[in-house]
Amino acid sequence: MKGKGGRTVAKGNLPSKLCPACNRPFSWRRKWARDWDQVIWCSDRCRAEGRRAGGGAVPPPAG
Ligand SMILES: [Zn+2]
Repeated sequence: MKGKGGRTVAKGNLPSKLCPACNRPFSWRRKWARDWDQVIWCSDRCRAEGRRAGGGAVPPPAG
């Protein structure tokens, strides 16, 4: 028997991005329909975190 999850469900074939703050992929949302191109963070919280980390768009090197 298999648990739930693990199966890829293509629902509308929505685009997705990787959030630099939490390093998690997030999918297109309706509220971003207008400015999906400029969306960087998956949430307001991550945006705040990302902005605090630095001013550049490039995340600091790990280490
Ligand atoms: Zn995030």
